[in-house]
Parts: sequence; C-alpha cells; structure tokens
Amino acid sequence: MTVQIFPPLEIPETLAAGPGPGNTDARVLKAFAGAGIADHMHGDVLRGMVECKHMLRRLWGTTNTYTFAVAGTGWSGLDTMFAAVMPGDRVVAFSNGTFSGIDALTLRIKAATPTEHAANPLDPQAASVIVIDVPHGTSVTGEMVEAALAEHKPKWAFMAHWETGSGRINDLRGFSDACEKHGAMGLVDAVSSLGVEDFAIDDFPGVAGWASCPQKGLCCLPLTYAPVSFTDAYIDSLHTSGAYSYVHNPLFEARHWGILDGQDADKGSYHRTHSAYAVSALHESLRLVLADGLAKRAHAYRTHEAVLREALVAMGCEVTSNMTSLVVLNLPPALAGREMELVQNCRARGFGIWPTLSAPVQVRIGILNLLDRGVITRIVQLFAEALEELGGEVDHDSVTAILDSRYGTCVAA
Ligand SMILES: *Cc1c(COP(=O)(O)O)cnc(C)c1O
Repeated sequence: MTVQIFPPLEIPETLAAGPGPGNTDARVLKAFAGAGIADHMHGDVLRGMVECKHMLRRLWGTTNTYTFAVAGTGWSGLDTMFAAVMPGDRVVAFSNGTFSGIDALTLRIKAATPTEHAANPLDPQAASVIVIDVPHGTSVTGEMVEAALAEHKPKWAFMAHWETGSGRINDLRGFSDACEKHGAMGLVDAVSSLGVEDFAIDDFPGVAGWASCPQKGLCCLPLTYAPVSFTDAYIDSLHTSGAYSYVHNPLFEARHWGILDGQDADKGSYHRTHSAYAVSALHESLRLVLADGLAKRAHAYRTHEAVLREALVAMGCEVTSNMTSLVVLNLPPALAGREMELVQNCRARGFGIWPTLSAPVQVRIGILNLLDRGVITRIVQLFAEALEELGGEVDHDSVTAILDSRYGTCVAA
C-alpha cells in the first residue's frame, strides 16, 4: 500500500460564534506571518518575550514576578499551574461544568498516591482531593467555598473563574477571602475571563496561582502562549516540593521569559525552543488588548451580550448563563431535545455555535472578539433561521425592535 499525498488542506472561514476559539484578530495573524525566521535565543525574540511578560503583568494587574506564558493552549497553562500539587496533597476543588470538571480530574491525577494512580490511571480516585459538585447552570458561591474550606482545611483550593461549560461566573471575591481565612492556596482557571472581564489579580490575595489561554479573550489562536501568574507563596511551595515535570515546572519555564531566582533578568535563558512567530503574535495581541483597555473591552462584552441575550429570549429561548462572552440557552419548549440537530445545521453552514459538552444538552453562542452591531445582528438572523428550519416560530418584528432600540437607530455602531 502506498501512502498518498493528500491535496493541500483548505479550511474555510466560519463565523466562530462558540465558547472559543475566539476570532483571532487580523493584526495578530499579520504579526504571526510577518515575523522573520529567527532562533529562540535571538535578541529580538528574547526582548519580545520580556516585553510580553511586562505587558502580561499590566494586563493582569499584578506585581507577581512569576507572570509569564506557557507554550500551548489553556490546558498547558493549567497543567503548569497544577504542577506544584504533589501526591497526597489535600485539595478542595469546585466543579460546576465541563472545564472545572477536567481541572478536578487533573488535580486527582496530580494528588493521587502511586497506589491510587495505578488502581485507575485515567480517573484516579485520590482520597486527598475533595471535589464539590455544584449543579450545572449554577455558580460557585463564597458561602460554598467558606463552608468547604472550613471543614476540610486543604493546602490547595481550586475554582474556575468563568466556567465556560455552563456559562457561569463563579464568586472570585468569596473564593479569595475564604482561601485567605483558612490558609489555603487558591488556584484559579481564568481561561475564559482574562481579556474579557476587567479585574486585577492583586485584588485577590487568597489566590496563589492563575492560568489562562491565548485563544479566548486575547484573540490569539495561532498556537501561542497560555498566560500564568504565581505569588511568592506558590513559588516557595514549589521550591520545597519540586514538580514532576521539566517542561511545565514554572521555575524552569519562567527562565526563558527572563525570570531567574525570583528576579527579573535582562534576558531569558534556554528552556525550550520558542517560536518567533508565536512570540510576535502574542506580543501583538497584548498590545491590542492593552491599547483598547480592559475597561472598554469589558463594557463592550456586557453591551453586546445583553442585546444578544434579549433577542434570544424574544425568540422563546431560556438563557441560563451569566458570562458576558457566552450565552448558554435552552431552546423554546417545542424544540426541546433537538439541540444537537440545530447546532449541526448551523455548523454545516459555517455558523459555528456549540452544544454543551456535558449534560444537560444546551446551546452555546459566543461573541469572542465579535463586538459590533453588524456581527451580532448576523448571529441573531442565522439563529432565527435555524429555529424556523426546525419548525419554530420567530417574531421577527419584536427581534428587530430589540436590535434597533438597543443599538439606537443609527446605522453604524
Ligand atoms: C477553553 C477552556 C479551557 C481549555 O482551554 P484550551 O485552550 O482548549 O486548552 C479550560 N478551562 C476553561 C474554563 C475554558 O474555557
């Protein structure tokens, strides 16, 4: 049998209206494709990484020295954050959807003893990890965190800031306060919130580790860098325990970003081969988000999500989310049970919306970097067509009235 050479891969442009990836900005793609080929120790690549580190600290509102980014996707940053969790460590993890569920699995993998690991390698039941299951569609509250930390007194506590699986914002203030009060080191999955919500991590001193991603609020999909940030307390713990990883150990990883022995160095030293293209893309995405300003971006997300939500409710949908970059909804009662069919119809047409990935089945429509009237109107129209295609009824006049009144009657927005 001969191995064939396939024709060139062509991937079409879609309207990426899901939970992620977000719409990579044209400026970011230009920076990616425009970088010259230069090795990972070239002066300008190293300078770019150091500049990214400083821009990340500003974007994330932190003086944490250990603020940098990890090559790969959101899970790469999360794996790096969880690297300090050692077998037998006591952990309380809150799970209220697909992603915090996977985070909790990661924590069970890291904290399992060798015997627990061998007993069930893909789903270790670590006795030292307490997972608090919070029902899909509801948020983790400060009271829940307070009660669990008071009872279990863990070394580590974990929560997703924004749980993208169910579209819920969890109580970061309550989480941080409870961590401080009970002496736990908080770990937060901020994959969906960075670059979308206006918050500063130094306002949450109970949180010792943060991890995000390139492809959501930062509009920087071309496999680049997942931002992370760690307090000195986290780094001290890591110094004591070590981590079972070379590549995802924050102490090693930070060196290439010019962070050595807790101090900023003029330039980085070798950790692994970084890509000049990826560094350029991340650099441009950080410039873009910072120039726009977090306050302005957060406001734009709130504004457009509110309009989209109202239009969807006018079509008979029930919205159960409260994130500002994503709407999670139940279809009108007459179409209940046909969520997958509807999502597939939309996707076949290049309108990339998503179902939920864990039960119950709901529809998810996202607006990452889709912050203008034209594209929100397009999403509303395409969704209305999809409902009608399944036999649903849409009151177009009332939907149009919502768009007109919320955006004003001016043509531009
Ligand atoms: C998207 C997401 C992830 C996973 O990120 P990848 O970039 O797919 O690795 C993890 N956690 C949350 C909350 C997310 O929204």
